Amino acid sequence: MTKGKVFLVGAGPGDPGLVTCRAKELIASADVVVYDYLVHPELLAWCRADCEKIYVGKRPQRHSRPQEEIESILVARAEAGRTVVRLKGGDPFVFGRGGEEARRLAADGIPFEVVPGVTAALAAGACAGIPLTQRNTSSALIFLTGHEDPQTHALATDWRRYGAIPDATLAIYMGIAHLRLILSELMAGGLPPATPAAVVQWASLARQRSVSGTASTLADLAESRQLEAPAVVLIGEVVRGHEKVNWFEQLPLFGRRIVVTRAREQAGDLRKKLESLGADVLELPLIDVRPKADRDTILEIFAEIGRYDWLVFTSANGVRFFFDLFLKGFRDLRALGVMRIACVGEATARFVHALHLEVEICPAAGTAEELAEAMIATGSLDNAKVLVITGNLNRETLVQNLEAARAIVDTFQVYENIWTDLTHDPVADEFRQHGADSVLFASSSAVRAFAAQAAALQPAVGTKRPLAGSIGPRTSEAMRKAGIRVEFEAKEPSIDALVDALIEKLNGR
Ligand code: SAH
Repeated sequence: MTKGKVFLVGAGPGDPGLVTCRAKELIASADVVVYDYLVHPELLAWCRADCEKIYVGKRPQRHSRPQEEIESILVARAEAGRTVVRLKGGDPFVFGRGGEEARRLAADGIPFEVVPGVTAALAAGACAGIPLTQRNTSSALIFLTGHEDPQTHALATDWRRYGAIPDATLAIYMGIAHLRLILSELMAGGLPPATPAAVVQWASLARQRSVSGTASTLADLAESRQLEAPAVVLIGEVVRGHEKVNWFEQLPLFGRRIVVTRAREQAGDLRKKLESLGADVLELPLIDVRPKADRDTILEIFAEIGRYDWLVFTSANGVRFFFDLFLKGFRDLRALGVMRIACVGEATARFVHALHLEVEICPAAGTAEELAEAMIATGSLDNAKVLVITGNLNRETLVQNLEAARAIVDTFQVYENIWTDLTHDPVADEFRQHGADSVLFASSSAVRAFAAQAAALQPAVGTKRPLAGSIGPRTSEAMRKAGIRVEFEAKEPSIDALVDALIEKLNGR
């Protein structure tokens, strides 16, 4: 059997946006992913559905798996011919024991590759507004570990030696537990007590927290603010005045955990917008979409495809699955004929434009009523043949209104929505364990999906009760029907207005 390969991959400091393109590509194609506790759950959502995910990090009340055992997992899976991604927080070769794993793989003759990642100190600097070097004051950057030697329980690092180095920035990993001792040793070695110093916890994530003071005050400050691992300690002139450039912690949704539902193509836009404002976004995969069309219907419709006057898309998924089917049957897009095309909204039209096809009708509000109205207004529906592409959850309104205008309507279901199994989903888990500040609903189908899976989405006792927000009247109506209290509603049905309403609600709370 041919051997598989192991990729030692840096998962970055936390924010999923800070992993490399290479890491994302490898995660998406891996047979096996072996991961630690600092790896963001969102990264695991990129895995293939059949990917084996093995957690080897710390567990409550227990130690992490012994290093030896982790290495054996990598070797065994690779020998079975599988592609293994070993995901490590930050960079695999910075205080991550990636070196030991690489050596073991080399010794056992397993092919492997190392993919670097953004290490925690770099993220702490960037996200707390602390440059790591600076002309004239800081000409060296030293990465140190504050982790004690597990055998002797003594600090392994000769801190006094580092305290004596002038003009350097010290970046200390795993130093929080012994911060007081580390700082006093550094000062004993010559570090001036007034040297600016900071602790940055959970760098790059919405739960980031930082404090700053001096070498002599930092231990007290960190203790009184209860800063804990994972955190990086930064010491040096570079820390001075960082509050003024602490751009990240000043964003309007910084520190907020917001749940969005991945039930509709807009979820991606909503997520990006929220993240750009500093929020920690949990995207719940409530609905899975898969192609589903009846064989005889496919044949019938494609045999007649040139005879339709209008082709109507009610979702981006419809566009995607329709053209997948179409291009299996025909080699040339021109076989579609010269029908006119209508889409329910912008997000749907974008997918049609991507195929270089003109969209004639695309109502601003993105509702079935408006779409029908706009089509009727063309005066072309009397006796016209209309093909409406659907999934399994569409409302009847569109077809009814078109038929009332004397169109001859065929519907063609090309996909179906099914509830996702959330029992073991890592994002759902995160929600169950920690709750959220808010849950945003951007469509009534998302509301129905959420309500249908409410049992699997119970946040643990004592966690924050999320405030439910709605994108508009129709979604609010669906929420009330499902027994979800509408805490706020967008002034107009758009992503921007929904986010504005959220900020107003949370910051006024
Ligand atoms: N290989 C990792 C380091 C692993 S050691 C890397 O390159 O970043 C674990 C330590 O890394 C933690 O104790 C903490 O000191 C630091 N760390 C990891 N993620 C962090 C984060 N998001 N914010 C602050 N410190 C972090």
